[in-house]
Amino acid sequence: MSRVYNFSAGPSMLPEEVLKTAAAEMLEYGDSGQSVMEMSHRSKEYDAIIKQAEADLRDIMNIPDDYAVLFLQGGASTQFAMVPLNLMNKNHKADYLITGQWANKAYKEAARYGAARAVASSADKTYSYIPKTTRADFDPEADYVHICMNNTIYGTKYHELPDVGDIPLVADISSCILSEPIDVTKFGVLYAGAQKNVAPAGVTIVIIRKDLIGNAMDITPTMLNYQTHADNDSMFNTPPCYTIYIAGLVFKWIKKMGGLEAMKQHNEKKAQILYDFLDQSKLFKGTVVPEDRSLMNVPFVTGSDELDAKFVAEAKKAGFVNIKGHRSVGGMRASIYNAMPIEGVEKLVAFMKKFEEENA
Ligand SMILES: *Cc1c(COP(=O)(O)O)cnc(C)c1O
Repeated sequence: MSRVYNFSAGPSMLPEEVLKTAAAEMLEYGDSGQSVMEMSHRSKEYDAIIKQAEADLRDIMNIPDDYAVLFLQGGASTQFAMVPLNLMNKNHKADYLITGQWANKAYKEAARYGAARAVASSADKTYSYIPKTTRADFDPEADYVHICMNNTIYGTKYHELPDVGDIPLVADISSCILSEPIDVTKFGVLYAGAQKNVAPAGVTIVIIRKDLIGNAMDITPTMLNYQTHADNDSMFNTPPCYTIYIAGLVFKWIKKMGGLEAMKQHNEKKAQILYDFLDQSKLFKGTVVPEDRSLMNVPFVTGSDELDAKFVAEAKKAGFVNIKGHRSVGGMRASIYNAMPIEGVEKLVAFMKKFEEENA
C-alpha cells in the first residue's frame, strides 16, 4: 500500500488513525453485530455515537450551553439559503463581505430572500486580501453580518474579526473549522461542510446561538428551519449516520492530539515551512498579501502557465496529488488541513526546491 500526500481543497485527507479505526470497526461496531452504516439511527448504539460526537465537539470548541450544535445535510451551500431564511426576518436586511466565490454565492442566495448588501469586496485584486472595515460600514439594522472566515479558493483568512457591534456575526468556517481555537461567543452562527477538516462529505455542522432559532420566514421549508433540527437533536429525519460517526472519530483524534491549541501549533508549523520557502523562492510566488494568509490553503504560481502545468504533473508522479489551483485562479494550491502531516509539507518543499533548480 502506498498512500499519497493529498493536497486537495476538499474532500481531503483524513487522519490515518481514524481510517484504521473505521476499518477495524467496519464489519462490527462494538458488539452490535453490524457496521455503523447498517444500524438504525434510533438504536441505542447510534444514539451514543451522535451524543458523544456532539459532546466531544462542544468540549474541543468550548461551545457554551446557549448554543445549539446541529448535524445537518446539504453542505455549506445549503446554509447560504438557511441563514437568510432563518435570520433575515426582523429587518429583512443583511450585510455581506465579499472575499471570494463562496462568500459571493452566499450573498447572491441571500439576495433572493431580502435586502442583502455587499459591504466590501476584494474582487478588484482576485480576492488576494481581506478588505478592511470599521463598525461604521455596517448597517445597525442588519439582521446579521456574513463572512467567509477562510477563503478556500484564494487562500485568505480573517486573522481579526470585523467589528460589527451588536449585530450577529455569521461565519462560513468550512475550510478552517477545528484548525485553531475560535471564540464561539463572538458569533451568532458558525457553519461548516465536513469534507475539508472533519469527515467525508455529507454532514454540515451548524453552531447557532439559541435565541436566533425560532424566527424563520413563513416560506421556510420544514427541513431548512433550524428549529426543526434543534427540537429533534438533529434526528428529525435520518441523519448522515456514518459521516457523523467518522466526525466523532476525528474529534477524538483532535482531543488526543492536544485539542485546538495543539492543532494550531501543528498547522502554523506546516504553513510556515511552505510560506518561508515561497518568500525566498526565485521561481514560486505566493499570491496572497502576507497579513491575510490562510493556515489551510496556500495558493502559489510560477508566473508561467506551462511551468505550472509541468509542476502539477511532476508533483502528481512524485505522490503529491491534487495540487492544481482552483479553475478560477490557476497556478497551484496546497491545502494543508489538520490531517496533513508535517512531513508531507517538508517533502513537498524539498520537491519544489528540486523543481526550481531543474527549471531555473
Ligand atoms: C467547500 C466550501 C463550500 C461549499 O461546501 P459544500 O459542502 O460543497 O456545499 C462553502 N464554503 C467554503 C468556505 C468552502 O470551502
